[in-house]
Amino acid sequence: MSASPSVVLLAGGAGGSAFAVGLRDELRARGGELTVVCNTADDLWLAGLRIQPDVDSMLYGLAGVKDTAKGWGRAGDSLRVAAELHAWGVGWDWFELGDLDLGAHISRTSWLREGASPTTVLARLQARWRDEIGATLLPMTDAEVETHVVIEDSGDAGGAVTIHFQEWWTRYRATREPERFENPGMTGARPAPGVLEAIARADAVVFAPSNPIVSIGPILAVPGIRDAVAAAPGRVVGVSPIIGGAPVRGMADVCLRVAGVPCSADGVAGHFGARADGGLLDAWLLAEEDAALAPAVASLGIDAHVRPLWMAGPDLTRALAADTLAAAGF
Ligand code: GDP
Ligand code: CA
Repeated sequence: MSASPSVVLLAGGAGGSAFAVGLRDELRARGGELTVVCNTADDLWLAGLRIQPDVDSMLYGLAGVKDTAKGWGRAGDSLRVAAELHAWGVGWDWFELGDLDLGAHISRTSWLREGASPTTVLARLQARWRDEIGATLLPMTDAEVETHVVIEDSGDAGGAVTIHFQEWWTRYRATREPERFENPGMTGARPAPGVLEAIARADAVVFAPSNPIVSIGPILAVPGIRDAVAAAPGRVVGVSPIIGGAPVRGMADVCLRVAGVPCSADGVAGHFGARADGGLLDAWLLAEEDAALAPAVASLGIDAHVRPLWMAGPDLTRALAADTLAAAGF
């Protein structure tokens, strides 16, 4: 086995980018290689701009310019332009767009309007911080795919309303009970150039501790990606985003409930399934708090590794990345 492994990471925003930094550092030290396939189903058009929340968290996180306290956006950002947009009633006043962040959105939209594909646009964005990033970032697809939330409306009109995932998550903090999630545009989507190739030549495929339903879910739903992961020559290893029966941050519990998946480390492992049993995982990392669930994971046919899963600081995150590589055989 290669001592300098080539790894593909499937990831969402906050949890995904935090983990990616540790994995990048660990692979860098071993002379390995990292390709990150980012969820783009959170993307949206707002104020005339294409916004890619998870892609940008990954970009800023690996480049070392992310606001790590907030978990998203640029460190030291200001809101002068946002205040002007709000004065004119443009955009969503509950959706914060920092000035530096807007620079990325304007550049992206400008390149898209010139005809560049989302893959090319992301290559240009990451070229600015090539040395710092030390990884290749790919969107899951070049197609415009979004996550929408269908909500049973209890208002006078009755019936169901459909809102963009960002509105449900950021404006309503997941308090409006969803009936289901939808991914318009998914059926006709294709994996972005390089995604299937990277999975097919990777020594390991890793699922970041990201939201299983709305971050990892859409990546796997791009026609072709699930099959590529199932057929990957390297081991497929996941890190549980659920510790002690609850998400560490965010509202993944609501998403899991809607999808009918138990909010537990073994529940999420079962949702992805064992590769030996038509699913995707060879190994799963669960938190020490969930050690009692290891036999349940093992009984699914997935190697269970009980490890510290809290990414509380760079050292712990890097240790988690090393444990993940160990579970992949490196
Ligand atoms: P989003 O796109 O910004 O929602 O971020 P992700 O989908 O990438 O990650 C969200 C998930 O990260 C949540 O379900 C959290 O439980 C998980 N998460 C956040 N911090 C940690 C941590 O320190 N350890 C683990 N294991 N999971 C975490
Ligand atoms: Ca996200």
